[in-house]
Amino acid sequence: MLVTVKGLVIGRREVGDNNCFLDIFTDKLGMVEVMAHGVKKLGGKNSAASSMFSLAVFCLNKKNSGGYTLNSTEPVYNFYGISKSIESFSLAIYFADIIKYCATSEEEHGELLRFVCMAFYQLEKQKLDLEFIRSVFEFRFITHIGFMPDLRACQNCACYSDEVMYFLPNEGMFFCDDCYNTVAYARGKEVFEIDPTVLHILRYVAYSENEKLFKFKVTPRYEKLFSEISEYYLHAQLGRTFDTLKYYKSLKLDF
Ligand SMILES: [Zn+2]
Repeated sequence: MLVTVKGLVIGRREVGDNNCFLDIFTDKLGMVEVMAHGVKKLGGKNSAASSMFSLAVFCLNKKNSGGYTLNSTEPVYNFYGISKSIESFSLAIYFADIIKYCATSEEEHGELLRFVCMAFYQLEKQKLDLEFIRSVFEFRFITHIGFMPDLRACQNCACYSDEVMYFLPNEGMFFCDDCYNTVAYARGKEVFEIDPTVLHILRYVAYSENEKLFKFKVTPRYEKLFSEISEYYLHAQLGRTFDTLKYYKSLKLDF
C-alpha cells in the first residue's frame, strides 16, 4: 500500500553499500523508520530528499509486515545551513533525540511538524540566541506531545496570578503564595519560585499558536529562568536526560 506524507529526516543509518534506514518525523504518521534503497548513490533520484534535515514529500510503501520502504520523493527544503555551526548542529541533534524518544508512530503530528521546522529554521538562521531557541523548543514540544501542565490558575484557589508563585515541574501545576504555604500537598516537592513574568512566558509558549512562538523577547534574566524550567520540566516529565544535551553544553563551555 502506498502512502504519501510530508516529513523531516532526523536520523539516518547506513545499511550496506547503498542503502539507509531513515528516521522521518511526518505529518500523518508521526515517527516512521523507512528503508531507503539506492540513496547513497550521488545523484540518485531519492538521494537529496534522504539527507539529514531534509524536508520533503515522501511516497512510502507500507509492507505487510508493517515496515516502510521509500518509493519516491519530492524535496521541499533542506536545513543544511544548520551544519555550518557545530553549536546549531549539536542542538538540532538534541532536538532530534527528543522527537525520536517522544513521538509515537501512526499518529497525526502535522502541527508539531510545522513547529519543528520553524525551530530548525531558527537554528539555521541564527538570528536568535540558541539558548532561547532551545528553551522554546523544549517547553513547546513537551507540552504538545502529551505533557501539558496546568498553567491556567493556582491549583488550590484558582487565582490567575500572584506576585510570588510556585511551579511544581513533576506534577505540572502551580500554587499561589498563600496556598503553597497552607496546602499540605504542595510541600516537600521539587519547586520553582516564579513571578508573573515567568508564568506569562510559560503560558505564552504552551498556549500560543505556532506563528508567535519565536517572536517574543525576554531579558537575559528571564531567558535564564525560562531555560532552567524548560529543561527541568522536559527531563522530569520524561524521566531521563539526553547525552546530546550534555554534548551541546560542553561546546558552549569551550567558547
Ligand atoms: Zn492559590
